[in-house]
Amino acid sequence: MDAPDGFPGEHELRQLLDEVLPAGWAASVASGDEEATLAMRETLDNPTIVATLGRAGWVAPQYGTAFGGRGLSRSDAQAALGLLQDWHVPHVPRGSGLPLAAPTIDQWASDDTKRRLLPPLLSGEERWCQLFSEPGAGSDMASLATTAVRDGDEWVVNGQKVWTTFGHESEMAMLIARTDPDQPKHKGITYFGLDMRSPGVEVRQLVNMAGQVEFNEVFLSDVRIPDLLRISPVGEGWAAAMTTLGAERFALSGPKCKKRKSSDEILGGKPLDEVRAAAVGNGASQRPSTRDALVQDHIRGRLLALTSGRARAQAAAGRRGGAEGSITKIAKAMTNQTLQETAMETLGPASVAWDPADGDAAEWSTQFLRTRANSIEGGTSEIQRNIVGERVLGLPREPDPFKGQAWRDVPRS
Ligand SMILES: Cc1cc2nc3c(=O)[nH]c(=O)nc-3n(C[C@H](O)[C@H](O)[C@H](O)COP(=O)(O)OP(=O)(O)OC[C@H]3O[C@@H](n4cnc5c(N)ncnc54)[C@H](O)[C@@H]3O)c2cc1C
Repeated sequence: MDAPDGFPGEHELRQLLDEVLPAGWAASVASGDEEATLAMRETLDNPTIVATLGRAGWVAPQYGTAFGGRGLSRSDAQAALGLLQDWHVPHVPRGSGLPLAAPTIDQWASDDTKRRLLPPLLSGEERWCQLFSEPGAGSDMASLATTAVRDGDEWVVNGQKVWTTFGHESEMAMLIARTDPDQPKHKGITYFGLDMRSPGVEVRQLVNMAGQVEFNEVFLSDVRIPDLLRISPVGEGWAAAMTTLGAERFALSGPKCKKRKSSDEILGGKPLDEVRAAAVGNGASQRPSTRDALVQDHIRGRLLALTSGRARAQAAAGRRGGAEGSITKIAKAMTNQTLQETAMETLGPASVAWDPADGDAAEWSTQFLRTRANSIEGGTSEIQRNIVGERVLGLPREPDPFKGQAWRDVPRS
């Protein structure tokens, strides 16, 4: 695996991979047999490999060395991550830490806070969830009612959050809370890192309609957060939350990618090749309507891949995700949901009544049901359309009769 360094530390990274990957891995990758390599990947101890790579700075090599990275330039970091991807090496910690929390911390937090939060995030030792939505504040997130009141070097937090994906298996959370109720709703909000193991944090699991435990309610009672864990300046939490939501739209927009954790693993749904194989297998592909649906699914998938590719190229060139993320998020939700409808049509009666002995059969309807959430999670498709209307088409902003009024004076349901 020796090679001259194409990016700083490449030799060291290759040596590390030799140490952490099982014997035979290199030969499998070299043979070009992707399926064999991916099958081998199933047997790996992913958290240990991610922790090893994270501690050595290879999970986000673009961050500074004091913050868990290697201080590489954007292009060198991309080359390093490209190598991990080409080698099918697991290097993405579970949860929303890497895609959502890390860019927010990187952009907004002080160096001391970055030093505390980023290294364990990048090594996967602290997994992150997102405490934004509340029972009375979803699309209108800025009306949130969870409060954080300063007490010396700490903040005392009270309130309730909901829909917290992976809240039951996260050590840390991105929390936005109201720190000044006398400001208009977008202003008096501050963004914190919350240790989910703190006294006063109660996580209650919810079961979704597909029968999966994925998200939770989180109750916060007199939870104390050291000021060191404050990510945004006081009162600037809304702008910091926009960094997270921009990154989230981007993460929920991409096409399927087998090589690493992809949006489809989050969004659910059967891939097109499996739906097509099922249609050929049971003869549904002989029906003109099913053939037509499969062709449309193929075209939509290609269009989405090209549009997402363009958005990713812009991001790689240093442009942060903006309204493009809203466009691809709407398209991804629509494409995925329509494909799962084709899957149900393909299966016919077997989509609702299956042989219990057939372990795979229930999975089709589970995946179909899971994808109904795609047009809600990460901001609904209606809200994304509002963003596109306002920021891309230049339409008038949504009227807000309470604009400029103190949050405490605005009526809430
Ligand atoms: C699977 C899943 C995972 C999630 N994970 C997380 C998480 O980890 N952390 C987190 O904080 N949140 C999470 N959410 C919450 C998600 O962000 C919210 O559900 C979403 O923002 C919508 O809020 P709401 O459910 O309160 O619906 P509401 O805001 O009450 O909306 C109800 C309906 O009204 C429409 N609507 C509302 N306002 C407008 C408007 N101005 N213009 C047009 N239409 C409008 C909406 O589009 C929707 O159809 C998750 C949701 C799901 C489904």
